[in-house]
Amino acid sequence: MTKPTVAIVGRPNVGKSTIFNRIVGERISIVEDVSGVTRDRIYSSADWLTHDFNIIDTGGIEIGDEPFLEQIRLQAEIAIEEADVIIFLVNGRESVTDADEHVAKILYRSNKPVILAVNKIDNPEMREMIYDFYSLGFGDPYPISGAHGLGLGDLLDAVANEFPNEESEPDETDVIRFSLIGRPNVGKSSLVNALLGEERVIVSDVAGTTRDAIDTPYVYEGQKYKIIDTAGMRKKGKVYETTEKYSVLRALKAIDRSDVVLIVLNGEEGIREQDKRIAGYAEEAGKGVMFVVNKWDAIEKDNHTMNNFTAKIRDNFMFLDYAPIAFVSAKTKQRVNGLFDSIKLISENHAKRIQSSVLNEVIEDAVARNATPTDKGKRLRIYYATQVAVKPPTFIVFVNEPELMHFSYERFLQNRLREAFGFEGTPIRLITRART
Ligand code: GDP
Ligand code: GDP
Repeated sequence: MTKPTVAIVGRPNVGKSTIFNRIVGERISIVEDVSGVTRDRIYSSADWLTHDFNIIDTGGIEIGDEPFLEQIRLQAEIAIEEADVIIFLVNGRESVTDADEHVAKILYRSNKPVILAVNKIDNPEMREMIYDFYSLGFGDPYPISGAHGLGLGDLLDAVANEFPNEESEPDETDVIRFSLIGRPNVGKSSLVNALLGEERVIVSDVAGTTRDAIDTPYVYEGQKYKIIDTAGMRKKGKVYETTEKYSVLRALKAIDRSDVVLIVLNGEEGIREQDKRIAGYAEEAGKGVMFVVNKWDAIEKDNHTMNNFTAKIRDNFMFLDYAPIAFVSAKTKQRVNGLFDSIKLISENHAKRIQSSVLNEVIEDAVARNATPTDKGKRLRIYYATQVAVKPPTFIVFVNEPELMHFSYERFLQNRLREAFGFEGTPIRLITRART
């Protein structure tokens, strides 16, 4: 279930972001649309042959105003901490630089597999330029060209070859996996402690332990849960910990491994731009979602305070109109235990299967109430629908001509499905296909 993570490391201008974009390819992201901010992506899912993995462009993580060599040292450290396999990228059009050697020294000290790739080898005649780079001590360098997309297959073969054994984490179907994500200081760690019911320090250091050690198993009223990446919430005093890009990276990794994501907001401070971006990632990943407004104890309240805050959330997160909202206090533990019930309900909705016969009754009824759209005298005809996946529930609707399915009509159908089946807390997907 856990996908391996690959990080690209190297000094500026060797082509890290070019290679990152090549490997990621065209993946549609709603986040840019949602937040109105252009996000330069540094983390994405990707695949190569039968392998799914996540990839990080560490060059996109700027760490305050640290000097140049310190920046790349910290980026290499992040790669060592976060990745299973590291692509060390150098520029074949220049010889080995001090900065390359600096990176090499840091990578030696890790016990992570490192694949050396020499970029900007744009044609076969340039291949001999890779020989210089044997001196870095990472074995055979892979010649590639980000600009022309050359050599990437061999590079990715070598990378995939180093992936850890995929059977290491068995799928535990009876466990609900959830994570708490949000800006620094909204109270994520405090909430974890409150959920666990005691002021207990969360187990073991990440270094040298298995990935599982960063999750906390917990049983509540007979249901098994796993809180994902709880170690990541504990502060280790690293310089890069508070940078936005790094916390986003941690959040994305945690989201990936969760069934349900709790988006924690700070009731005292209200909603910030960064909250919207984080929420966008959760929706994009197709996870169950709820909002948790924390520090509710610290606010002066009257009869309208909760409604006003709810309205603000609905206004700012229109794409998550199905996510329930809880107002809690990690400090006083008010309503904290109730979170488990919400998480359980969302998880059930996220994994819900609808019988085809019932599904098609609801669709027929919807069409009877609100006729399908027409275009240039042609009417959309819906033949039948079927659920093809869970987590999130995904439906294929077979029609005469998919182009006739307007966004607004699709939205209408989604709402009807929600009314009929109660998908609170989970996204649902509708795919329109021509019947063949
Ligand atoms: P980063 O700073 O390591 O992320 O590097 P970028 O991806 O921003 O690339 C730096 C520069 O190198 C850009 O001008 C790219 O167009 C160029 N570049 C990247 N890959 C190649 C390549 O394979 N061949 C050539 N000739 N130029 C490249
Ligand atoms: P994280 O960075 O999101 O993990 O946030 P922490 O759990 O470290 O909390 C940040 C600060 O907010 C700490 O000083 C906490 O004591 C405080 N805090 C957390 N939850 C609450 C709460 O429910 N009420 C109040 N008043 N303070 C809280």
